[in-house]
Amino acid sequence: MKTLKIAIQKSGRLNEKSVELLKNCGLNFENYKSSLISPVSNFPLEILFLRDDDIPEYVQDGIADLGIVGENVIEETEVSVSYLQHLGFGKCSLKIAITNNSDIENLSDLGGRSIATTYPVILGKFLKKQNIQADIRTISGSVEISPGLGLSDAICDLVSTGGTLKSNGLKPFADVMSSEAILIGSKGSENNDLVQELMQRIQSVLRAKETKYVVLNVLKENLPNVLALLPGVKSPSVLPLAEEGWVAVHTVIPERDFWDRISQLKQAGAQGIVVMPIEKIILE
Ligand code: ATP
Ligand code: MG
Repeated sequence: MKTLKIAIQKSGRLNEKSVELLKNCGLNFENYKSSLISPVSNFPLEILFLRDDDIPEYVQDGIADLGIVGENVIEETEVSVSYLQHLGFGKCSLKIAITNNSDIENLSDLGGRSIATTYPVILGKFLKKQNIQADIRTISGSVEISPGLGLSDAICDLVSTGGTLKSNGLKPFADVMSSEAILIGSKGSENNDLVQELMQRIQSVLRAKETKYVVLNVLKENLPNVLALLPGVKSPSVLPLAEEGWVAVHTVIPERDFWDRISQLKQAGAQGIVVMPIEKIILE
């Protein structure tokens, strides 16, 4: 079978998490900063380390079968690829920001103003949708300093915590798009058996991240109350304890409502609650 190629960011915000995800999928490869291609020793896959801007086109043209990149980069490059899986990291928003003392109050106030950005395509579509005619100034980086330099009235840039905006005297004004890292594939790649195998591994790692393995003890008479609170993958396992009248319950619970669930379990009579991380969850 043909060896697959996956393109990931060589260095930058998505590099570490992309490498970690692939390693958690059980793939063995060297992650030398100097190498551009790294073969995987235990799966027919090669990893290409690239600038993130180049990844969408490599995947569109089939030079790489798969890629991990921010949705913002895919939207901006307007490539034709398959969206295979949201990956839950690299979360950020593309926002329009204005200076703290700006007189811009409504979106329509952007009409006739200049906005500096490295995302002219996405910003252009957004403004068109809102029927706003503004002057888009495309620059290649350090967008946040442009209002201070008098180059633009506003900016449109990626924001995660907002710290960079603040330190440059800017404030968020409008949300243009939200983004996270995504697995993309060349059109039709989703039908390839190896791609499907890799996607299943990725999904099992993502699922595991969203859940915790929980073991707790409970008096048999309180068991129904405890079980009523638990989802489990199919249903929780209930095992007798050496001490008469007690059972142990094993289950998985979602990370998102974890603390609420734990306090409800305690109230329902759960004791000796042990929580463990899960490495993988394979459903089929
Ligand atoms: P490259 O050298 O590969 O071209 P880059 O400088 O263009 O890298 P990074 O700054 O490393 O890109 O960001 C990569 C991606 O990380 C972004 O395209 C975006 O999807 C995501 N990201 C998450 N949070 C942020 C943030 N606060 N600012 C910028 N990008 C972010
Ligand atoms: Mg880039």
